[in-house]
Order: sequence, then structure tokens, then C-alpha cells
Amino acid sequence: MALAAEEGFDGEELDGEGVHAPLPILAVVGRPNVGKSTLVNRIIGRREAVVEDKPGVTRDRVSYEATWNGRRFKLVDTGGWELDVLGIDAMVAAQAELGIESADAVLFVVDATVGATDTDEALIKLIRRAGKPTVLCANKVDGQSTEAEAAYLWSLGLGEPYPVSALHGRGSGDLLDAVMAALPEAPPQTFGVAPGGPRRVALIGRPNVGKSSLLNKVAGEDRVVVNELAGTTRDPVDELIELGGKTWKFIDTAGIRRRVHLTAGADFYASLRTSSALEKAEVAVVLVDASETLAEQDTRIISMAVEAGRAVVIAYNKWDQMDEERRFYLEREIEKDLVQVQWAPRVNVSALTGRHMEKLVPAIETALAGWETRITTARLNAFLGELVAAHPHPIRGGKQPRILFGTQAGIRPPRFVLFASGFLEAGYRRFVERRLREEFGFVGTPISISVRVRE
Ligand code: GDP
Ligand code: GDP
Repeated sequence: MALAAEEGFDGEELDGEGVHAPLPILAVVGRPNVGKSTLVNRIIGRREAVVEDKPGVTRDRVSYEATWNGRRFKLVDTGGWELDVLGIDAMVAAQAELGIESADAVLFVVDATVGATDTDEALIKLIRRAGKPTVLCANKVDGQSTEAEAAYLWSLGLGEPYPVSALHGRGSGDLLDAVMAALPEAPPQTFGVAPGGPRRVALIGRPNVGKSSLLNKVAGEDRVVVNELAGTTRDPVDELIELGGKTWKFIDTAGIRRRVHLTAGADFYASLRTSSALEKAEVAVVLVDASETLAEQDTRIISMAVEAGRAVVIAYNKWDQMDEERRFYLEREIEKDLVQVQWAPRVNVSALTGRHMEKLVPAIETALAGWETRITTARLNAFLGELVAAHPHPIRGGKQPRILFGTQAGIRPPRFVLFASGFLEAGYRRFVERRLREEFGFVGTPISISVRVRE
């Protein structure tokens, strides 16, 4: 997945609450000691200091909920991690970069008593590149006498510097007014999550694998569809189906039930239907006809689900037609053609006889859990540290690229950003992914790992 896909995280991604409507996110960015934590405490109206004095403490980006003039937003303090493997400037820049990417607006804090340093300049470059609305806070303006220093910060080209004393509260009202003007009312939705609603399932697979048979089996032949839930908008092509004691939303079932005539272009429409169902779904159940040789179309549909970043379950249907010989070949086909989705839970079912239908829901739930797994930065870096020590990257051209540290930038699916001292070969990246999966699971979910090279 491209890095661009990491932009526009919603509030729930940062703290994993997942039940509230996403709030707009403000990232507080600045080099160490300019007063970010003090300012954050001031804004959230908390007296007790979360100001971190201990150097060498690894902590995650911390997010808080705040309110100003009746508007709620999320505040993300991007300071914090100290890893001695990396120069402080690169560290700060890397953290800020992640914070900026996931934010809707940026509050850039400068120590007015010090003025702009090289590190500040480097941060400004990052902010410009991200193109997010930015408010400039000239902090530590405790009194009138330091206000002139704040004015110098006009030269940074970030617009009006707001003189503030985070310590005493001076100027923070005007600053917050400017922040509210910069923040969008609601963050852009990455995809339509109906918080707390039924989980969305796309049942996909090439024609004749048994999609409509399976749907009829799980929904009941007489197509008894569960009652509409209050407050859920229902697309007429989707069906709410009760399975394993829960209600699930099966996406675009009309397209499954409608018999598509095999005329020219049918494949094209089937593929369109698949991608639009994936677009709306959280998890894909890919149906494969186990009684036939895996077709190129099967692997293509699986790849579509992976590329869409959805949780994936593979259901081998028509298991009633399985015999020893076919089973032998099927195992070989899976090893050969489905290596890229070894992580997907497999269920062997029969829509005809109802075999193992009860295994479908646990598989879907496992995949969704993997899809939403978040690893803390501390755990991830402990793991990466051991991995790099035990299995360093091969030396190339006299140089040995190292993973310096990493962070999980998002979930649904899990996305990781690794900062490295040089280019990491594809083979090594695959190795890292394999080890990540061994260590943390991620059953049923694609994961993306992007690498950023720090000189
Ligand atoms: P951070 O590293 O950017 O989060 O900075 P901190 O919030 O930890 O603040 C660094 C130091 O600056 C602390 O000793 C704060 O008490 C001090 N500080 C923060 N804001 C102000 C301010 O408005 N005026 C003065 N005089 N000191 C401040
Ligand atoms: P779709 O095109 O993917 O919706 O597939 P259908 O549900 O229309 O099924 C295609 C054919 O496979 C039909 O003749 C079904 O009766 C048959 N079929 C579906 N599931 C099974 C199964 O589990 N076992 C067997 N033996 N046949 C099945």
C-alpha cells in the first residue's frame, strides 16, 4: 500500500476506541523542550503534569480528547520517544512526520525565547510537504517583554505567530480560536464505518463456486432476513443476516443472487461487483470451489481482497465432493498458488450439506481481530531490536542498513512504518513481515510495512 493510504486516520484509529464518531485530530509538533506537553496539559485543562522528565523513555504518541467553545477534537502529542541509536533531530523529525500525517491540522510550537533552530526549520519542511493547515504557537511568551521575540517568528512563513505562555495560560484562548478555525468540522472519512453497527462481510468468488448457495444456507432458504436494526441505514442490495448469535451485514447480496448471464463482459461486471463489495466491506469471505483446480481467477479475487486491505477468510466450498486424490492435489495447489495468503484462516465447507457452517463465524471473527490488532511502539521496538541483533540485514556495498525503530501507523489493516539507516531489500522486508506475524499473530489480515530511509 502506498504511504498516501496512511493519511486521514480517524480519531478512533489512534486510540482504538472505535465507538465514537471520529473527531478531528490536531497534532502538536515541535522539538523537545519547547513546551508541547505543558501546552497540551493547558489545553485539556489538566493540572497534573504528564511532562516527561526521564530521558530514554519510550512511549507512544499520546492522544487526548479536548473541547474548545463546545467543539470536540483530539489532541496528539507527538513528542516523546528517545532512542539513542538515532540523532535527536532525525528522531524528532520522524515522530513529527507520523503525527502530521495522521492529523487534520498541525499546531507547531516554537520556543520564542530561543527562536527558530535548524530542527525547527526541518520540521517546517515536513509540515509544508504534508500541506495540512497549520497554526504557529510562539511559546514561553510569559510577559509583554518577550512579545517582540514572538514577532520574529513571522519570518518562518507559517503565518501569524500566536504568543502564548503554556505555563501561565497567557494567550491560549486566541491560540485555540485559531486552531478551531484551522480544524475541519469532521475529519474526512476514509471509508464509511458505521460505528457499533453490524460488521460488513463481502462474500466473493468466481461464478459457480457456490456463493448464492452459501448465502441461502446461512440466511435460510426462504430468505428470511433479520429485521432492520434501529439506526442502521440499509442498502437494499445488502442483507442483515444472523449468524452465530450476531448480526452481520452481507454486502451486495443482490449481485450474488441475481444470475448473471454469461455474455460478453460478464467477467468484467463480476470483477466490478467484487471491487465495489470490497470497498464497502471490512472482511472478505472468498469462496473457492475445492472440487476443481484453483483457477487464475480465484487467486486474482483473493489478491483483490488483499490489495483492498480487507480481512480475509478463505472458504473451500463443495467439500462434500472431496476425495483423497483431490485433497492431495488441493494441498499442493494451496502451497503453490496461495503462499501469499498463508495467514488467512481456512474453512472447508459445503453449502449443499451445511458442513462446517458453524466454523465460518469464528474464522471471520479471528480475521477481524487480526485486522484490528495494535502493537504498542514499546513492544514493537523491543521486538525489532532483538530481530536486528539476531538477524542483521546482509552487508551491501560495504554498508549494512539497519532498522532504527518502527511504529504502527494504523489498523484495519495494521500498517507499520520502519525507519532504517539504508534501503532494506525486499527479501529482508518479507523476513521482517514473517517474524512480525510469528510474534504477534495478525491472522486473517494483510499487513503493510513501509520503510523510510534516514541518512
Ligand atoms: P516538550 O518537550 O516540548 O513537551 O516541553 P515541556 O512541556 O516538557 O516543557 C519543557 C520545559 O519548558 C519545562 O521545564 C516547562 O516547564 C517549560 N515551559 C513550558 N512552557 C513554558 C512557558 O510558557 N513559559 C516558560 N517560562 N516555561 C515553559
Ligand atoms: P455462485 O455462482 O457462486 O453463486 O454459485 P451457485 O451458488 O449458483 O452454485 C453453483 C453450482 O454449484 C450450483 O449448481 C450449486 O448447486 C452447486 N453447489 C454450490 N455449493 C455446493 C456444495 O457445497 N457442494 C456441491 N456438491 N455443490 C454445490
